[in-house]
Amino acid sequence: MGLALREALKGAGTASPNPIVGAIIVKNGKIIGKGCHKKFGGPHAEVNAISSCVEDPCGSDMYVTLEPCSHFGKTPPCTDLIIKEKIRRVYIGTTDPSPHSNGRGTEVLRRAGVEVECGVLEKECIGINEPFFHSLRTGMPLIILKAASSLDGSLATDNGDSKWISSEKSRKMVHRLRNFYDAVLVGRNTVEKDDPLLTVRHCRGRNPVRIVTDEHLSLSPDKKIFGNDSGTIIITSKTVTETSETKYKNKGISIIKVDENNGELDLEQAFRTLHSYGIRSILAEGGAAMFSYLINNRLADKIVLFLAPKLIGSSVKFFSGSGIELVSDSVSIEDVKYKRSGVDLLVEGNLRYSD
Ligand SMILES: [Zn+2]
Repeated sequence: MGLALREALKGAGTASPNPIVGAIIVKNGKIIGKGCHKKFGGPHAEVNAISSCVEDPCGSDMYVTLEPCSHFGKTPPCTDLIIKEKIRRVYIGTTDPSPHSNGRGTEVLRRAGVEVECGVLEKECIGINEPFFHSLRTGMPLIILKAASSLDGSLATDNGDSKWISSEKSRKMVHRLRNFYDAVLVGRNTVEKDDPLLTVRHCRGRNPVRIVTDEHLSLSPDKKIFGNDSGTIIITSKTVTETSETKYKNKGISIIKVDENNGELDLEQAFRTLHSYGIRSILAEGGAAMFSYLINNRLADKIVLFLAPKLIGSSVKFFSGSGIELVSDSVSIEDVKYKRSGVDLLVEGNLRYSD
C-alpha cells in the first residue's frame, strides 16, 4: 500500500477535482502491474494498473488507495474490470465517501466472491486526498495558508521589503505546493507590490489557477499574474461597472463578483463559486491582510508556515486584529508537524477555532 500511495502522487495536480488514486497488483510475491489516476476524465488507477500487467492478473492481489468505483461516471466501473480479470483479493486504503460510492464498490466485489480488506494505511490514504475529503464534507475548497515570516511573525519590514525572509530551500518547496493544490490566492496589494508570477518553476508540474482579490478592479492587466497559460480569476465587488471589466475580459481573465461585508469582499461566497468550478484546494500566499481576513473569518483550514531564524520586529505580522482576549480562545494548530527546511522551521497543521 505504501507503493500504491507513491503511485497515487503521480496524479497530484492533474486528477482534481477527482481524488488521486494509486494501485499495485501483486502475484506470487511479485509486482506485476501498477498505475495511477493521472488525469481528470482519464482512466482510473485500477484500469491503468491492470493494463500495465506483465502477466495475467488472474488470481492476483490488488492494493488500491481508494475504494474502487462501481458506477458509470466518465469511465466504466472499476469493480466490473476487477471481477472480469479474476483478481482474487483487493486491499483498500479507505472507503470513498462520495454519495454514489460509500461502501458500494466493496459490496459489489464481495458479492462477486472477491476477498476485500478495507482500511489498510487508512490515515495515509485519507491524508493524500485532503482536498477531496474536505470538499465532500463541506462543499468548500480546502484553504491552505502559506506564509514565510521571521521568528517574531513579520512578513516584511515596515517599508515593505520582504526579499527574502525564508531560505532558498523553503522557497523551492512552495513550488511543489503550487503543483499539488488547484489554485493560489493573493490580495491586490501583493500583486501591486511584488508582481509575482505564481507559477511552478523550480520543480516539474503544472501551473495552478491564479486568483487575486481586487475590490475596484484597479490592477493593470499587464501584471505578470495575468500572463501565461493556466488562467487567472479576479474576485471583485458586485458594485464594479461593466466598463471596468472590459480590459480584463479581452485578455481571457475571469471575474467573480461577490458582496461586500463591512467594506471587505465576502470570500466565503467566492470560495463556494470556485468550488462549483471544480476547484478543490486554494493555497493562500499573501499578504498580511489576506491571512488575517482568512483566519478572522474562520476560512483558513490549514497552515504551512516557514519560520526563518531572523528578527524583524515590523508591524507587518502574518496574523493580527483577532481581538482575542483570552489565550484559551486562541486559534490552535492541531495535528501539528515540525520539519527543518534549510535553516527555517516549517510548521504545518490544521487550524482549530474556539467555539
Ligand atoms: Zn474507477
